Amino acid sequence: MSLTEIAAKIASAAVASGRAAEDISLIAVSKVQPNERVSAVLEQGHRIFGENRVQEAAGKWPAFQEQFGEIELHLLGPLQTNKARQAVNLFSTLHSLDRPKLAGALARIAQEEGRCPNLFVQVNTGEEPQKAGIAPADLDGFVKDCRNMDLPIQGLMCIPPADEEASLHFALLAKMANRNGLAGLSMGMSADFEKAISFGATHVRVGSAIFGERVRPQP
Ligand SMILES: *Cc1c(COP(=O)(O)O)cnc(C)c1O
Repeated sequence: MSLTEIAAKIASAAVASGRAAEDISLIAVSKVQPNERVSAVLEQGHRIFGENRVQEAAGKWPAFQEQFGEIELHLLGPLQTNKARQAVNLFSTLHSLDRPKLAGALARIAQEEGRCPNLFVQVNTGEEPQKAGIAPADLDGFVKDCRNMDLPIQGLMCIPPADEEASLHFALLAKMANRNGLAGLSMGMSADFEKAISFGATHVRVGSAIFGERVRPQP
C-alpha cells in the first residue's frame, strides 16, 4: 500500500469515529527494512519512524537525519537498561516502558541528561508469559510510581495476542488510559490500524503495509 493510501485510510477511520486525522500519528516501522525502502518513504516527506532495536536505529538514522533533516524516531521494542542512555539521546518517544527497573534507570538518566523522551507504558493486555509489559492489575500503581519519579508518561501501548480479537485489547487499553488520565494510545499495526483508531488510537505503528514484507525476520 502506498503512504498516501494509508494516510487516506487513517483519515477515514478517524472521521468515522468523529476524530480529526491530525490527532493520529502514523509511525512508519522501518525495522530490518533495506535502506532504499526507507529512503523512498523519506523522499515522500514522511518524518515519523519506528524501530525495534537501539543498535539498529543508531546504525542507520544519524545518516538519514543528516540527509533529510529532523526526523521523529520512536522505539517500539524492548529496551535493556544498559542501552537506556543511548535510547534517551536517539529517540523522541519510547513505547516499551515495561518494568520498574527500567523506569528507575530512565528517571536517573533523565536527571543527568536534562531531557527525557515521551514515554508509553507497555501493557501486557493478554497476560502472555512470553510477552513484555506491565500486567493490567499492576498498571495503576506503576503509572503512579512513574509520575512520582517525574517521568513524562504520555500514554499506554499494547501488542494484542496474535490469536485473539484485537478489539478486546484495544478497548481494554483505552479504558485503562482513561482511568489513569492518559491521552496517548499506541495501538494498531498493519493488519488492524483502522480498528485501533475506532477505539481511540493516537499512534498507529505500521510496518509491512508501508514497506512490504520484512526481508529478514527479527533475530
Ligand atoms: C514490527 C512491529 C510493528 C509493525 O508491524 P507490521 O505488522 O509490520 O505493521 C508494530 N509494533 C511493534 C511493537 C512491532 O514490533
